[in-house]
Amino acid sequence: MSGPAVATRPEDPRVSRALADAVGRPFWTDRPEVDLGPGEPPARGQQTTDLLVVGAGFTGLWAAHLALDDDPDRDVLVVDGSGPGDGASGRNGGFCDASVTHGAPNGVARWPGEYPDLHRIGLEHLDALVDHLGRLGVDAHWAPVGELTTAAEDWQLRDLEEVAALHAELGDDVELLDGPGARARVDSPTFVGGLLRRTGVGTLDPGRLVDGLRRSLLARGGRLADHTPVTSLHRAGAAVRADGPGVSITAHQVLLATNAFRGLLAPVRRAVVPVYDHVLVTEPLGRDRLDALGWTGREGLADSANQFHYARLTPDDRLLWGGYDAIYRFGGPTGPSVERNEATERLLCAQLLDTFPQLDGVRISHTWGGPIATTTRFCLTAGTRWDRRVGWCVGYTGLGVGASRFGAATALDLLAGRRTERTELGLVRTAPVPWPPEPLRWAGISLTRRAIARADRRHGRRGPWLRLLDALGLGFDS
Ligand SMILES: Cc1cc2nc3c(=O)[nH]c(=O)nc-3n(C[C@H](O)[C@H](O)[C@H](O)COP(=O)(O)OP(=O)(O)OC[C@H]3O[C@@H](n4cnc5c(N)ncnc54)[C@H](O)[C@@H]3O)c2cc1C
Repeated sequence: MSGPAVATRPEDPRVSRALADAVGRPFWTDRPEVDLGPGEPPARGQQTTDLLVVGAGFTGLWAAHLALDDDPDRDVLVVDGSGPGDGASGRNGGFCDASVTHGAPNGVARWPGEYPDLHRIGLEHLDALVDHLGRLGVDAHWAPVGELTTAAEDWQLRDLEEVAALHAELGDDVELLDGPGARARVDSPTFVGGLLRRTGVGTLDPGRLVDGLRRSLLARGGRLADHTPVTSLHRAGAAVRADGPGVSITAHQVLLATNAFRGLLAPVRRAVVPVYDHVLVTEPLGRDRLDALGWTGREGLADSANQFHYARLTPDDRLLWGGYDAIYRFGGPTGPSVERNEATERLLCAQLLDTFPQLDGVRISHTWGGPIATTTRFCLTAGTRWDRRVGWCVGYTGLGVGASRFGAATALDLLAGRRTERTELGLVRTAPVPWPPEPLRWAGISLTRRAIARADRRHGRRGPWLRLLDALGLGFDS
């Protein structure tokens, strides 16, 4: 399952056949049960609101709900340049992890003293998220199925042993599996072992989550405006003015939930880079193929190469397969022009067929890409400016499905000037090292990507560049 073992070439006719009918849209928002409809009308002219939320992904939608929980009389307006879920929130794998630090190893490496608290807070937060969905009546098909991280080479097994020991020390339910043990859970000839984590991780349906949060927000009086890009922010006395084409919104406070998209304030712009990650979804697999996979536990699946894949079954028994390439383009463009990448889609398809040869002949129904907001610490960053008139939480890297609600709550705490357990965390009190400006940014990321691919080819051995970044606590990941 790791990168180098592509026996099926991307130019193989089997890859062309598999991809022949694929549509280039995110599967999650392309189903009758997720009806985002024509959307809400854009905001136009002069507007006022108590709280303006910019971005209608998970962070923005959760922030609006949490703000209304705090004060139901508050006017909350959520605007999006496109529509709810058109960013990463409608395009992800739907792994929902308790971690707010992009995994325990990353969290422990950066905040060793604080990590037991971060771990507990993450687990408590996941419970709160599930409970909140229940109160809102949102059925996002949350399934606490756990995660199986597989190894395809011996060096990856050694890494998994370390990760297992860390989770065990934190009190998580983890189990190391040998080759037959891993293959008994999901059958792939590439698996030589695995780590099953049952605590604090499962899958959900991102399309249903975004649609459910959107509907329940409207039902409780929150306002949404689609196709309303904000292009600039200005201080306006004790308020903030947010301007966009044909609209000017004066708000008491503004919460930026723009994640990988170009930040509206310099500290946000410098904190994240948009890295494009690509995903394939198959047609529904049918009984025979499901039996051949043997994936009865429906665990989320990830491999442990540096360039890694993730895979899961969808509620209607398709296989979702994504990851591996993490593409940063010079200047960090976002949007439709960079959401498709035929070379990456073909490579992913070849790797899927190598990992699961029993899927030979399967058709891919959907392919898409989405922006991952990567920070130099690989996890969220929150802050405020202008005397707490503007706040933000962005940069979840590849693990924001669960953490985005935590980020929304943190940004609201900061805007309110509340001291909470969240705001006292080093994770929140300090900011990641900013990305350098272009062209250094592009050069550094390109060098790092090549070094990561090289490490995978050399049985995980990290070269001098990666070792330097490790020593500085910096890096690049999806
Ligand atoms: C392919 C892929 C797979 C992933 N898989 C997983 C996974 O399995 N598990 C996991 O935990 N995480 C995963 N992630 C990450 C996760 O999806 C994100 O961290 C999470 O969705 C972030 O939510 P958000 O609301 O902060 O950002 P987004 O969902 O990106 O929302 C930001 C919104 O802001 C809007 N916007 C931006 N700028 C402006 C502006 N100036 N004016 C108006 N609107 C603006 C955008 O249109 C967008 O809708 C994945 C991401 C991708 C791309």
